[in-house]
Amino acid sequence: MDFKEKIRVILDYPQEGIRFKDITTLLQDGPTYKAAIQEMAKFAADKQVDIVVGPEARGFVIGCPLAIELGAGFAPVRKKGKLPYETIQAEYTLEYGKDALAMHKDAIKPGQRVLIADDLLATGGTIQTTIDLVKQLGGEIVGLAFLIELTYVGGREKIDSDYDIFTLVQY
Ligand code: AMP
Repeated sequence: MDFKEKIRVILDYPQEGIRFKDITTLLQDGPTYKAAIQEMAKFAADKQVDIVVGPEARGFVIGCPLAIELGAGFAPVRKKGKLPYETIQAEYTLEYGKDALAMHKDAIKPGQRVLIADDLLATGGTIQTTIDLVKQLGGEIVGLAFLIELTYVGGREKIDSDYDIFTLVQY
């Protein structure tokens, strides 16, 4: 299946020089969305995943159906201040200043096998922060899965260790 053909590229959004990969056109197409999730699930099928972890918001759109396909649980990563129970946090650097992502402190039990999922790997900043949170909770990261990788940004090299990474579509 040609997944790339279903992804719409918007030039100069949200700012000049960015080629925004709009996955809404892929999500709108039922058979393509399902096939994409199934391909990602194949990567993780023999990893005995207990729980999928995905950062808001597009990490939910990929991570939740992936969790169901794998028969695993799902735990959300959110911007700080959004989760109702006690949280742990990890900071990440933005163009100007810092922000933090959070997880519930009991979202993962120590030793659980974790698959991290998101829509797109660019600089790797979001996913590195997610990795930091999962490690704080004692999760064992068994793989990272993305719908899209922007290989020209080189995020893969910036991730802190040699995880098993799957990306369905590359630019
Ligand atoms: P990063 O932390 O740089 O790896 O980027 C993480 C998030 O930013 C991804 O999960 C996307 O949701 C979003 N993102 C970054 N670059 C793009 C792009 N060119 N097109 C669409 N989304 C992007």
